[in-house]
Amino acid sequence: MTVRACPICAVPLEPTAYEGLAVLRCPQCQGHLLELARYDALRRIPRKTIVELEAEAQAGFSGDTAAAIRCPRCHTAMSKRPLSVPGFALHVDVCGKCALVWFDGGELALAQLAHQASPMFREVQELKRRAEALAADPARKAAFDEAVAKLPEPQNPLRAGLTEAVWDAFLRIAWGLHGPTRL
Ligand SMILES: [Zn+2]
Ligand SMILES: [Zn+2]
Repeated sequence: MTVRACPICAVPLEPTAYEGLAVLRCPQCQGHLLELARYDALRRIPRKTIVELEAEAQAGFSGDTAAAIRCPRCHTAMSKRPLSVPGFALHVDVCGKCALVWFDGGELALAQLAHQASPMFREVQELKRRAEALAADPARKAAFDEAVAKLPEPQNPLRAGLTEAVWDAFLRIAWGLHGPTRL
């Protein structure tokens, strides 16, 4: 594999496993370079816990890079795409030509954190389905609705969830136009 340099620090990126998948990581700024399709896969098999991800995000976060950076593979300017993590104004840098995405230090952990919050939303959806099933029994449904209304809101903005639709659209566009690329 050709050695790719960090688009921020220019030091060689190192192959590493993230959530069990091969990615490239900068030993200096802790940024990550990965294929868009691999990021899609990585989000589907979360292995790190919320606590691990929070620690990683706090340790590695170096601030969002505002300047335009160049793709470590083809060296053309990457485009900024919003990374919708509530409470943070973050962007990832994408090379549509190579279907590669760059996460500044800590941003991949933040994105995973936001994503891993989504099972909580799925649980809420499941509760709603059960509530619908209870609709035939008005007294039980009223008691159920009252209990659901008392459920606490997620306190941590990181856990409030990534906008799935934004990512899905962004992955579809970048991936659909260009297909797989080796790092
Ligand atoms: Zn770096
Ligand atoms: Zn490129």
